[in-house]
Amino acid sequence: MSLYDMYATLGVSPAVYEYGERVLAGLKARFEAVDAVAEYNQAKVLSAMQKHRVSAACFAATTGYGYDDMGRETLEKVYADVFHTEAALVRPQITCGTHALATALSANLRPGDELLSPVGAPYDTLEEVIGIRPSPCSLKEYGVSYRQADLKADGSFDYDAIRAAINDKTRLVTIQRSKGYATRPTFSVKQIGELIAFIRGIKPDVKVMVDNCYGEFVDTVEPSDVGADMTVGSLIKNPGGGLAPIGGYIVGTEECVSRCAFRLSAPGLGQEVGANLGILPAFYQGLFLAPTVVAGALKGAIFAANIYERLGFRVVPNATEPRHDIIQAVELRSPEAMSAFCHGIQAAAPVDSYVMPEPWAMPGYDAEVIMAAGAFVQGSSIELSADGPIRPPYAVYFQGGLTWYHAKLGILLSLQKLVEKGLATL
Ligand SMILES: *Cc1c(COP(=O)(O)O)cnc(C)c1O
Repeated sequence: MSLYDMYATLGVSPAVYEYGERVLAGLKARFEAVDAVAEYNQAKVLSAMQKHRVSAACFAATTGYGYDDMGRETLEKVYADVFHTEAALVRPQITCGTHALATALSANLRPGDELLSPVGAPYDTLEEVIGIRPSPCSLKEYGVSYRQADLKADGSFDYDAIRAAINDKTRLVTIQRSKGYATRPTFSVKQIGELIAFIRGIKPDVKVMVDNCYGEFVDTVEPSDVGADMTVGSLIKNPGGGLAPIGGYIVGTEECVSRCAFRLSAPGLGQEVGANLGILPAFYQGLFLAPTVVAGALKGAIFAANIYERLGFRVVPNATEPRHDIIQAVELRSPEAMSAFCHGIQAAAPVDSYVMPEPWAMPGYDAEVIMAAGAFVQGSSIELSADGPIRPPYAVYFQGGLTWYHAKLGILLSLQKLVEKGLATL
C-alpha cells in the first residue's frame, strides 16, 4: 500500500492530502530551524544528566515520607542545571500547572503584598487563584491584592501603564509567556528579559515569576536565563516529553524555590519530604525526550498555521512569524467549525479515536470548552490536542503531537472535516 493509500485509509481524501503536501513543500527551511533548536536543547539536557551522574539507582521507588530520595534530589539538580537556576522543585505532588503556579504565588506573597501582571489578564484558571473571580482560598482572601497593566492594542508592553502600576506594595510580578486562551502574541524570552529589566529598573527588589507553560525548549534560552526568580510549568506539557503522567516544576532562586517547597509540603519540612512512588523513570526519560517532542509539536503548529492561513482564517501566530510556544490558535468564526476541527483531531488519535468531543463546563473556565484529545495521559497537551472556549472569535488552540507525523495527520483530518461540512474550500 502506498503512503497515499495509507492516508486514505485513515480518512484523508486525496485532495486534502495533496493540498497538505503543497503547503509542506514550502516549509523546509522552517523545519530545519526547529531541528537546530532541538539539537541544542538535546545537548543541554544530556549534559545536565551526565554532570549529575544520573544512574539506575535514581529510578528506584520510594514510599512514605521519602527522606533522602536520591532520584528525586538528582532530578531536581538536573532541572536546575537545564534552566540555569540555583534550585528546582520537580514533583508528582504538584498536580498540574495551575497548582505549580498557585504554589509559587502563595509561597512568595504575604498579606498586604500586591501581585502585578504587566501583560494583561492571566490564564483563565489563575483568575480564581488570584481572586479576580471570587474563589475560596484565593490570594485575595488572604489579603494579597492584584493589579494588572494591559497590553497595548498591538500586543506590546504598555511601559507607561506598568510604571504607573508599580507601587510600595508590589512584591511579585507574574509574566505569562504563552498566550493561553487569548489571541495576543506569545512573548519571546528576549522580550520577557527586556520587561524584567524595565521592572527591576523601577523596583530592584521585586520578584518575578514567569508562567512558562508551553514554552519550554521552543527556544535555546528560557525565562530563567533572563532574570526570572521563578520559572514555572507543567510536566504534562513540554518538559514531561509525553511520558510524565503528572507533575509540575518550579525552578529559580534558592530563596523563592525553598519557600515553594515549604508551601507545597509544610513549614519546616520543605523539600525534604515527598516520596516518588516509582514515577521518576518517566520524569527522567520524558525530560530526555522533551526537546525532540517539542520540535515535532512545533512543526505541527507551523504546518497548521500555513494550511489555515491560506484558507482565509486568521491564525496566531501567523504562517511566517517566529514562534515562542507550541500553541497555534486558529480563529474558526463559528461553533460548528470549532466542532469540525476538533472532530478531526480526535479522529487522528491513537486512543479514543472513535469518540466525538462535545463542549462542557470545565472547572476553572468561565465559558464552555470543547476539547479534542486522544491521549495516553489524560489531559496531556503535549500530546496532540485541540481545545477552546466556545466564545467569539471561536478560536481553537491546537497543540502538541508526540511525533510530527501524528500532528500532520491530525491537521489533515481537521481540514478534512471542515471541507466535508462545507466550512472550508480548498
Ligand atoms: C496550561 C496552562 C496553565 C495551567 O496548567 P494546567 O496544567 O492546565 O493547570 C497555566 N498557564 C498557561 C499559560 C497554560 O498554558
